[in-house]
Amino acid sequence: MSSKTMLQQALTRLVDAAKHLNIDPTILERLEFPLETTHARLTIRMDDGSHKHLRAWRSRYDDTRGPTKGGIRYHQSVTADEVETLAFLMTIKCAVVNLPFGGGKGGVQIDPHCLSETELERLARGYVQIFAKVIGPNRDIPAPDVNTNAMTMAWMANEYDSIVGEVTPAVITGKPISLGGSLGRDDATARGGYYLLQFLAQKLGLVPGARVAVQGFGNAGYHIAHLLEAAGYKVVAVSDSKGAIYCPAGLDIKKLNGAKERHGSVTSFAGSDGVSRIAADELVSVDCDLLVLAALEDMVHAGNAANVKAPIILELANSPITLEADDILKNRGVVVLPDILANAGGVAVSYFEWVQNRQGYYWPIEDIHARLKTKMEEEGAAIWACAKDKNITLRCAAYVHALSRLVDAIEAKGT
Ligand code: GLU
Repeated sequence: MSSKTMLQQALTRLVDAAKHLNIDPTILERLEFPLETTHARLTIRMDDGSHKHLRAWRSRYDDTRGPTKGGIRYHQSVTADEVETLAFLMTIKCAVVNLPFGGGKGGVQIDPHCLSETELERLARGYVQIFAKVIGPNRDIPAPDVNTNAMTMAWMANEYDSIVGEVTPAVITGKPISLGGSLGRDDATARGGYYLLQFLAQKLGLVPGARVAVQGFGNAGYHIAHLLEAAGYKVVAVSDSKGAIYCPAGLDIKKLNGAKERHGSVTSFAGSDGVSRIAADELVSVDCDLLVLAALEDMVHAGNAANVKAPIILELANSPITLEADDILKNRGVVVLPDILANAGGVAVSYFEWVQNRQGYYWPIEDIHARLKTKMEEEGAAIWACAKDKNITLRCAAYVHALSRLVDAIEAKGT
């Protein structure tokens, strides 16, 4: 383990990218730490009448390009460093796909699986009560992230409306459709990655029937498995926090999802139709043509990067590959479609939701898909060309692409 904080490690990638741009080095100083991070104690009343005191954060990393934007995650091991790192990544990601947003992130240190529905509702409302002054439709706009969903966003938006005394749908994205959510937000993260992959398939040498392993079977993992299966890929392995399964003939994703919903894990599918159980950490070393990382940070690291057999990795999670692993993969010629581009479909459709909320006019699903596809293809093409031109990785090119937009905005602003 490096003694550097997670944020310092993440910043290394920005510093590397800056070497490929002719910019004033003092520009980077403003991006070394967040604009503001609020750390609060969030107390919720449990169903049995007792109280739980939780650590909660909202970090606004940089707002040069617009209001800060980013999800809220619930996880037992989330820390301030992690929230700030993810807020930094959101700043870069929004610039990569040219959204008029800065970056932010929120977190609560809790395993939400231990809470009842009513406790979850009090948690969501409590989060907004303590951060009501931080968030706002022109200031900081939360959304779902790990272990939060449309229901969480509905409670949060409703609580915000009660506090400010007016209906303010644009304060939060990822809401249910009935409360001003956008069509297509549910599978947007996966769909953005899918459009990018299909756009680059020929250049990457991906052919119909290619074998895919998917790490993580939450929102992003499930939807990408489903989209890839429908496009003729063969999903041969899938994992979740409880374990992994392998099926060389290809998994039936709909049936697998049904099993997960009934029994709580993809591992319950083992035993049916040639499906065997494998160890969770074996997922990254499965023999396949494409590895999709859709779980948490640091899943491919110095200890397992050499075992990756896939020649292509799609990063749907945020920061799933460590710095050391990046080098190992690069030396082995593995092509990584980086998080700040590959998973930007989620925040891109969040942006569409915010726009629709502000204009009070809602677009059909075809428009959402077409706009998302155009965005992923345009930014993907620019980043591909930059990587070839400068002979750098796609990750470094994505940082170069984002940084040049950030620098333009910082210079235009003059402060
Ligand atoms: N949590 C998602 C991400 O990490 C989406 C953020 C958003 O929609 O604001 O990109």
